[in-house]
Amino acid sequence: MKSLQELTRENIWKLKPYSCARDEFKGRAAEVFLDANENPYNQHFNRYPDPLQEELKAKLATVKQVPAASIFLGNGSDEAIDLVYRVFCEPRQDNVVAIAPTYGMYAVCADVNDVEYRAVELNPDFSLDADRLLAAVDAQTKVIWLCSPNNPTGNNLDRQAIERVLTEFQGIVVVDEAYSDFNDQRPFRFDLDRFPNLIVLNTFSKLWASAAIRLGMAFASPEIIALFNKVKYPYNVNALTQQQAMKTLDNMQQVQYWRATILKERAQLLPAVAELPICKAVYPTDANFLLARMTDADRIYHYLVDRGIVVRNRSRVQLCGNCLRITIGTPQENNALLGALRQYR
Ligand code: PMP
Repeated sequence: MKSLQELTRENIWKLKPYSCARDEFKGRAAEVFLDANENPYNQHFNRYPDPLQEELKAKLATVKQVPAASIFLGNGSDEAIDLVYRVFCEPRQDNVVAIAPTYGMYAVCADVNDVEYRAVELNPDFSLDADRLLAAVDAQTKVIWLCSPNNPTGNNLDRQAIERVLTEFQGIVVVDEAYSDFNDQRPFRFDLDRFPNLIVLNTFSKLWASAAIRLGMAFASPEIIALFNKVKYPYNVNALTQQQAMKTLDNMQQVQYWRATILKERAQLLPAVAELPICKAVYPTDANFLLARMTDADRIYHYLVDRGIVVRNRSRVQLCGNCLRITIGTPQENNALLGALRQYR
């Protein structure tokens, strides 16, 4: 890996971050807070939240088995994705390399930050060709984006291929594991010590059923996390979100029950969709959704919408012609979907 200083934009490396009132005073003993120009009334909403979410990170450190200093929390994973560009990529000068197809926000954030985005197609079976990916890298490539399980294809990328990219690429490698809770592969966050250039993304939005609170996680070396903390807005995760996240983390038994239910439903839904005459193939999935190639995805999509059922039409995405992406729902929702698809003429 190149040095972190070489990889970081010079202005960010030199940045003296904003110091907010609650950064400067961290003691617990005080009772009179006259430091942040807050209104003393309207308790429990009048005070700024903890800018570094320390209580929540302490709990997450236990649940995720990652040191608190290696955790960044943001307004959804999307905040972490944007920060990767703002920290590492010099607009109109640096570039990033990513797999295609994949989650759309990596490219949108590249455009917003005016950074060249080099998309390298996966193999037709959606596996990663590490040689082809690495061949797209040049001296100005700062970041490689990988997503495993990948969205919208649903498959895990091969661990050895990912490790090759982590070893051979000299810049930052992001492995987005938003959906990794839906399979039993070893998560990459346990390998942070082996790969100083690794950033792993997780989210409260998928298995943890908390998309509404907007809370995403990035796991990386404490040095990379410190750069993120320097650039983020001071109070980027609001108090209601932090409180609700604590409640979710106290409820891991419920989460495990959801996981078992969703995996059971997935195992039933996949063959049931595959055997429909209007389905040409269902791809193997390691996530809480499946990608199905249909005879006529556009028409089937609109047919389902007319019956109040919304899936994602991915037929205009690279390698995904005529494909629908279907989230695993409750047993009732999945039955409604299957019932409608069976009646399609
Ligand atoms: N990564 C992937 C691969 C996703 O599919 C999504 C959401 N669809 C996200 C990240 C965004 O997660 P969040 O809700 O935490 O912003």
